[in-house]
Amino acid sequence: MSNKISRRSILAGAGAVVGSTVVSLPGMASFVRPVEKRAKNIIFCVSDGMSAGVPSMADQFKDVNFGERGVWCDLMRRPEVVQGVMDTRSLNSLMTDSAAAATSWGSGSLVLNGAINYLPGIGELTPLYDLLGKAGMRRGLVTTATITHATPSGFAVSSAKRSAEPEIARQYLARGVEVLMGGGDEFFSAELRADKIDVYGEFAAKGYGVAKNRDEMWANDSRRFLGIYGKGQLPFSVDRMHNEDIEMAVPSLAEMTKSAIDRLKGGSEGFVLQVEGARIDHAAHPNDLAGLIYDQLAFEAAVDVAVRFAEEDGDTLVVVTSDHGNANPGISNGPAGYGDANGLSRLMKMTSSYERMLPELRAADAAGVQGLAEAKLGVEISADQAAMVVSGLKGGDDSPMQQFGNYKFATAALSMAVGTATGVGWSSGNHTSDWTLVSAFGPGAELFHGMVRNYEIFGKLLSVRGIEFKNPSMTLEEAQRAEGGGFELESDLHWI
Ligand SMILES: [Zn+2]
Repeated sequence: MSNKISRRSILAGAGAVVGSTVVSLPGMASFVRPVEKRAKNIIFCVSDGMSAGVPSMADQFKDVNFGERGVWCDLMRRPEVVQGVMDTRSLNSLMTDSAAAATSWGSGSLVLNGAINYLPGIGELTPLYDLLGKAGMRRGLVTTATITHATPSGFAVSSAKRSAEPEIARQYLARGVEVLMGGGDEFFSAELRADKIDVYGEFAAKGYGVAKNRDEMWANDSRRFLGIYGKGQLPFSVDRMHNEDIEMAVPSLAEMTKSAIDRLKGGSEGFVLQVEGARIDHAAHPNDLAGLIYDQLAFEAAVDVAVRFAEEDGDTLVVVTSDHGNANPGISNGPAGYGDANGLSRLMKMTSSYERMLPELRAADAAGVQGLAEAKLGVEISADQAAMVVSGLKGGDDSPMQQFGNYKFATAALSMAVGTATGVGWSSGNHTSDWTLVSAFGPGAELFHGMVRNYEIFGKLLSVRGIEFKNPSMTLEEAQRAEGGGFELESDLHWI
């Protein structure tokens, strides 16, 4: 970590001018208005890979089945909530990955997909949390992914490659992030790390409370805290809802958010907390409707925790957004045409994510697939559809699904069969370039009005604390020259 923070570049504290930061990139205009009132605390909520159809369907699912509206829907209807949309491209693609997306927020610079606060030929950029920590704010990261995954990493570390998760785990400690919660036991456990370093022990030696399940989280009130609730990503919400063992062992995102706020609040210079619903993205890649909607509802429950705290506190900015779209799901037709709005009610019978069903699906013949679809997804699929599902899961060259570029992934045919019953269609199994939604509440919310470029978020978050800082930036041509004309990109397509 070679980052140095110039004293002149930080104008925090009493007497500093309220921030009016300009982050300019070549060929791109950037505007940040002065804030009307500074925020003491910032809570930044990310539904990863959330196309606009996702909160629409979450809201409509609650309306159709419970006569209630979605949390985000209700938030957007409040007159004091500022609504914007965000352009999400990365330096080298209209389709960003989560590393480049989080970097745009975390350093104000567009980078190549796969990099975290890192530019070729320049090296490490100064992440947002270093600057806010220097200004005295306490910092937290909460996610349903591994805590070392791209989105939380983008706020707090620098790494040429997002896959360097074992190293990122130790960077969090070196940079002093106060509260960390998510999955990723394999990056902290001496038994599971290749270098056999006990990273849990390193955190404990620096005064962190360490928890490895939900009970330990509630029992430990340490203000510096590492909560790692299992290996890999945390389970999908639909699997948590239907498995008592998971529910008891793994906290929900809302519970982690509450626990994190309780640990972070009370400091003289406030706190910043990033809350990520990571698995909305992981459900969108395989077109898993139940995985998607129940995780979106869990994310919105966490947003509700953040907004309720902000309402009581009166000095907290809450931003709710997504880093990029994924697969653009949406209801395009009911099972019996436009007049049939009941497709989403079938979600009530869905009790498993695709991820959890996959071993059984792969082992099943067509009749077995029909049985699993009825038992775990509540849908009847035809014998012809089931044969397509089996062929898609095998993925060989003779599979019809291999003829359609956007639908080559294993569960594409299953999702089309489920979509015939629910009315939900998907554009692909990949990230999309669509604008994403941005909602902001509290002091500084006015900065998030209208069209926002992803790399402008960095300057906006700093300006609500009266801080001005600019990281280096470069054009794609400069990046190509620095890379010697070629890219070594890491793919974000990490799910089936
Ligand atoms: Zn993704």
